[in-house]
Amino acid sequence: MKQGNGVDMETIVSLCKRRGFIFQSSEIYGGLGSCWDYGPLGVELKRNVKEAWWKAMVHERDDVVGLDSAILMHPQVWVASGHVQQFADPLVECKSCNSRFRADQVPGNKCPQCGGVLGEPRMFNLMFKTFMGPVEDQAAVVYLRPETAQGIFVNFQNALGSSRKKLPFGIAQIGKSFRNEITTGNFIFRSREFEQMEMEYFVKPGTDGKWFEYWLEQRFNWYTRLGIKKEHLHLRQHGKEELAHYAIGCYDVEYLFPMGWSELEGIANRGSFDLEQHAKHSGKDLSYFDDESGQRFLPYIIEPSAGVDRSVLAFLLDAYAEETVEKEKRVVLRLHPDLAPIKAAVLPLSRNEKLVPMATEVNARLRRCMITQYDDSQSIGRRYRRQDEIGTPYCVTIDFQSLEDHQVTIRDRDSLKQIRVPAESVATTLSAKLAGEPFEVLPPGGTPWLGPSGG
Ligand code: ATP
Repeated sequence: MKQGNGVDMETIVSLCKRRGFIFQSSEIYGGLGSCWDYGPLGVELKRNVKEAWWKAMVHERDDVVGLDSAILMHPQVWVASGHVQQFADPLVECKSCNSRFRADQVPGNKCPQCGGVLGEPRMFNLMFKTFMGPVEDQAAVVYLRPETAQGIFVNFQNALGSSRKKLPFGIAQIGKSFRNEITTGNFIFRSREFEQMEMEYFVKPGTDGKWFEYWLEQRFNWYTRLGIKKEHLHLRQHGKEELAHYAIGCYDVEYLFPMGWSELEGIANRGSFDLEQHAKHSGKDLSYFDDESGQRFLPYIIEPSAGVDRSVLAFLLDAYAEETVEKEKRVVLRLHPDLAPIKAAVLPLSRNEKLVPMATEVNARLRRCMITQYDDSQSIGRRYRRQDEIGTPYCVTIDFQSLEDHQVTIRDRDSLKQIRVPAESVATTLSAKLAGEPFEVLPPGGTPWLGPSGG
């Protein structure tokens, strides 16, 4: 199925494996259901996605601070949050083959696997359980967190007091979450171990509507700024029947994945539910004293909650393009430069030993300010294609002419245009281009160039 950007999931899965973005977990043992490993390029892409989120949500703002709370938390946290009682999906089991399915995802009572009869639905809690300490009894049960948000709520007073912030203010966190999902699939879209980027924004009741609107817009724009096409993204409002019992309002940011419109991020107005619950269950005062009005109250919370893995998948899908260049098929990932795993490839025209010293010198110069890849294998054309396919924005070529005029060629991934610049200025030139300077802008001594290493 091809939707949105016109690429199917199999194409992306195969590219991810071939080029070292994403592998199945424990592959040599036959794989582990719905767990994924990020390879050499995938780990860079994923870090860049998280970095871009952290920059926009924490570093570029005065009103949001960061947090990294433990995955294991006091079991009462999950009682207070409602997860112990309510974080469950209805599950049906086949009486013949014992396969289990989410009741809302199988029409009728026939097993999709073997055609057998399905039993009555029963509730299945999605939290992973484990034991803390050496004794495996009920008193030692702890959960792997199914969301990072609760670590933020329980640290509300710690973060507020130590950072001396005033409302409105937010706490952001990125980290692993675990859900024993009944039905997984669609590659990294739904897995049992995944990463979330969550921010809880605490506001004065009455101002929550305004801040809800504000975060809807901010979060939508974050994706488009990083290259997702507007027509592949929309905000979908939750209907009344879909809203969590405590939520005042909720929208999903949805992307047009190959399987159709699906959630990338949820943005909810949670009211004061979370702080109220934790105050009640912990017996601690989690209220806020407002100097201006002299009032004490429980803040309302606006929560943008995004998935790292789903974002990675959407960025990959939306960046993918196939084109014909000089009668040959070219696959290119037009990733935003901030997200591209490798920023520049350094390519000596051949393995000729005369080219090596200059090529390694250029690479060393560039490496100080960006991630590069040095590649001297195979023909220059094939090396360009390889870099296109992993989304490297710029290739720097060193040829025999470079030895004479000390200039190198820079090739632009998207336009395929080339410029020639002095070797000394390659790092400053590429840094400027990565920050958004048009490719045609030349440094002193630079020239537009279309030479023998073109294409
Ligand atoms: P869904 O309805 O798709 O199961 P959800 O509404 O349960 O998602 P939330 O609890 O709102 O998801 O979690 C916030 C974000 O965390 C989601 O928008 C998604 O990006 C990510 N996420 C949730 N569950 C998974 C999962 N099993 N695998 C990967 N990402 C997930």
